[in-house]
Amino acid sequence: MPPVKIHIPTPLRQFAGKQATVTVEAATVGEALEELTLSHPELKKQLYSEDGKLRAFVNLYLNDEDIRYLSEKENTAVKESDSLSIIPSIAGGSEMATLTEVPATGMPSLNNDEIARYSRHLLLPEVGMEGQQKLKAARVLCVGTGGLGSPLAFYLAAAGVGTLGLVDFDVVDSSNLQRQIIHSTKDVGRLKLDSAEEKLKALNPYMNIVKFNTMLLSANAMEIFKDFDIVADGTDNFPTRYLVNDACVLSGKPNVYGSIFRFEGQASVFATEEGPCYRCLYPEPPPPGLVPSCAEGGVLGILPGLVGVIQATEVIKLILGAGEPLIGRLLLVDSLGMRFRELKLRKNPDCPVCGTHPTVTALIDYEQFCGIQPAPAPGAAKINGIEQLDVTSFKQQRDAGKDLFLLDVREPHEYKIAQIGGYLIPLGDLQKRVSELDSSREIVVHCKSGGRSQKAAEFLQQAGFKVKNLAGGIGAWSDQVDPKVPKY
Ligand code: ZN
Repeated sequence: MPPVKIHIPTPLRQFAGKQATVTVEAATVGEALEELTLSHPELKKQLYSEDGKLRAFVNLYLNDEDIRYLSEKENTAVKESDSLSIIPSIAGGSEMATLTEVPATGMPSLNNDEIARYSRHLLLPEVGMEGQQKLKAARVLCVGTGGLGSPLAFYLAAAGVGTLGLVDFDVVDSSNLQRQIIHSTKDVGRLKLDSAEEKLKALNPYMNIVKFNTMLLSANAMEIFKDFDIVADGTDNFPTRYLVNDACVLSGKPNVYGSIFRFEGQASVFATEEGPCYRCLYPEPPPPGLVPSCAEGGVLGILPGLVGVIQATEVIKLILGAGEPLIGRLLLVDSLGMRFRELKLRKNPDCPVCGTHPTVTALIDYEQFCGIQPAPAPGAAKINGIEQLDVTSFKQQRDAGKDLFLLDVREPHEYKIAQIGGYLIPLGDLQKRVSELDSSREIVVHCKSGGRSQKAAEFLQQAGFKVKNLAGGIGAWSDQVDPKVPKY
């Protein structure tokens, strides 16, 4: 008979010899449960009612399927690779446990206020006094104090992580507030670092905050990382993501990774001794422009909350040395379907940074690696052969009656938010709808901030049109010409 792994949930482990998994030999789901309750009779009372039925608060899953929905139910055959999970409903309370004094030499001690503050942790045998002291001694670096960084830093501060480093150079913008909950309306225009520090200190005065008011760069990453134990990646762009990964591998610090896009997120723990790194998963970045940023593609505000809290959980587990970290596993979060899936990740022996013969042994130029052109100086006359027209000159020319055809290449739902009288053809439709344009007229292309319209202009110039790009897009128009046009 095949050995079958049964996952025991936390509340029931006390009835199963404190084990997280129990392996039994059985041919069917029912036999596996019978084997389990034979070897752990205490568990039987928890799982089954007096009349021998599975209790209503217990769900049993075979791999990812609830056995209630399998045609054979408890008679479903099991094979060696199968796993059974017992999923009880949980109330969220904590049971009283006896506090045992653990002599922790060299660990920071907790005063009575801290003991009261962390009481619900101290009651957990998996944390306890020793774990709480480990948290206090820990030094965690959060790269970014935005969507992911907000819940991440908040929960780490609440949990009692003693030293939090924050890296950010940005200021709070009103479009951040939909998800970056560490900042408030009154903080708009302030440095994110100062705003975050204020909230974290208000939540927990028993911690140190180290602020790095800079962009994370190849030139400063190793110096910033050196005083921290764990790095949590809350960045929103590929160059910084690869930089964080490589700097973690090179300095031997775990990289607690999270990323979000629209309704989906990912999380993992990279760059540990035994596990893969981000480059084992994605050796190369996507070409620039293929994956839009959240500023272009949007993001559900609560999603970074979900993913950032997963990152915070992983950080705390790494500090405590408890549980199973997401090492070698990529967690996929689908907030629309509300599904969490997991993919196995393997360490790639040929990985350029963590493999057996690494080719990356020092930090490189990540902008170049990601194929990003240096940003053109503001007011540059031409980019890739396309003339850049600033919004004030465009207004003057239009007011003076010059014949200009304004083409808007944004999406219809963006057009509904704000528009400046352009003819709408979304960038993705431009090729098939190009015949709608008059090649005898001069075309000015615009989008939200100038990136998509630049691509459209390059395509149109190739196709023989006379074309200019409206630098800064409708955002610049709102800033410099007409503040009545809403900025989004
Ligand atoms: Zn690697």
